[in-house]
Amino acid sequence: MQFIDLAAQYAAHKPAIDARIQAVLDEGQYIMGPQVGELEEELASYVGVRHAIGCANGTDALHLALMALSVGPGDAVFTTPFTFFATAEVISLVGATPVFVDIEPETYNIDAAALDEAASRTSRRTGLRLKAVIPVDIFGLPANYEALEQVAGSHGLVIIEDAAQGFGGKIGDRRAGSFGQVATTSFFPAKPLGCYGDGGALFTNDDGLAALLRSLRIHGKGLDKYDNIRIGLNSRLDTLQAAILLEKLKAFPRELEQRQRVAERYALRLADAVTIPRTPTGYLSSWAQYTIGVPLGRRDSLVRGLERQGIPSAIYYATPLHLQTAFKNLGHQRGSFPNAEAAADSVLSLPMHPYLNCADIDSIAGALRKAIKETSCAS
Ligand SMILES: *Cc1c(COP(=O)(O)O)cnc(C)c1O
Repeated sequence: MQFIDLAAQYAAHKPAIDARIQAVLDEGQYIMGPQVGELEEELASYVGVRHAIGCANGTDALHLALMALSVGPGDAVFTTPFTFFATAEVISLVGATPVFVDIEPETYNIDAAALDEAASRTSRRTGLRLKAVIPVDIFGLPANYEALEQVAGSHGLVIIEDAAQGFGGKIGDRRAGSFGQVATTSFFPAKPLGCYGDGGALFTNDDGLAALLRSLRIHGKGLDKYDNIRIGLNSRLDTLQAAILLEKLKAFPRELEQRQRVAERYALRLADAVTIPRTPTGYLSSWAQYTIGVPLGRRDSLVRGLERQGIPSAIYYATPLHLQTAFKNLGHQRGSFPNAEAAADSVLSLPMHPYLNCADIDSIAGALRKAIKETSCAS
């Protein structure tokens, strides 16, 4: 049993993926080959935005977004402490100050009311300029953009959607990647749409921002690549990765449906035993992770119980960002963001990928129920 079965996906699409890779080798345009632009068009149309801009990875995508919006020293950028490190790392990297905002306990996404309070407090008590907020579509579920747009608007905050996990998700008819002034995603192999190495993209409807991002990802190039008009990064998406993604994007809509079916069957088998993920009405998760909540203090023994039965699991994220060593300087402690801390103490992610069949899901659920029974006897 695999936590994420990339081999099964490759096996299902091997001839087509191999042909795409071979075509790049035959053409030899390894950097910014035609597949990059082709993929960008496909991505923009899938997400429903004017522009998609490929880049080297999801972290760079966030970094480029902050650079394009001229975020820097003296700026406050709000984000959730319950995310992968990169979301907040890039804020510090450009010299701005990450301001953490607690999450909703049920969706694990940033809490719009808490953002409102944090923005008011920051403008009263610090000299920081209120600049942006980076909501994360955690585990694949889009954040509450309707509420966030209102709060961000009232404080003059730009929204940067971190859709590294959310690609494919929806609120109503709007796809993840279309929220905010600019959105980012990652094609790290284990993400809902992954390549065979590092890759990322940005999405925007803003023509000016798109042009700026296209410059910034290639050393701040002007019209000619040896005419550098600003300081940028070397952050192109490899042609080979774009070619692989073109094929994987074709399979993606069906894979997304399969993920949804996996999630539904997990819910059916586990709802009475653990806290299953909550998807608000009108929302579609891309199920980057299937993350359950387990009783406090029981998680380690459940992980071991699953392991003994050959079932892998993972903990995203055991340490909320405000308690990470690298952010010590921000002066937070345990108790600063109670919902994020409670989540960090109780979440457990189960195997999730489109190639799990009903028997797999039933055996994972059965193994979990057995592990629960065993740990309750032991305690
Ligand atoms: C994976 C991830 C990133 C970073 O993407 P990379 O491609 O690994 O750089 C950023 N934010 C979130 C929420 C992620 O899950």
